[in-house]
Amino acid sequence: MLVVSLLVGVACAFAARAMAERKGRNPGTWAAIGFLFGLIGLLILVCMPSLATDVAYAADTGPMKSCPHCLARIEASAGMCDRCGRDQSRAA
Ligand SMILES: [Zn+2]
Repeated sequence: MLVVSLLVGVACAFAARAMAERKGRNPGTWAAIGFLFGLIGLLILVCMPSLATDVAYAADTGPMKSCPHCLARIEASAGMCDRCGRDQSRAA
């Protein structure tokens, strides 16, 4: 019985590690959770939101910066401030 439990734990650890990699989470941490908690650990990981999707979403919106004139949050690539309309090309 102990051998079967170990095999199930190792299988869940590998599955959790692969799933964590796809979700952009720490594979080592989730491999340990999969080994210790088995199918319950896998279910927890399935329910966790994917960090990889969050990163992709952040990349879509682009990096932000503060307007040096009015401190509004604007896109780093913007040539003009959305709020005060001042030129951003000379600002660092
Ligand atoms: Zn501004």
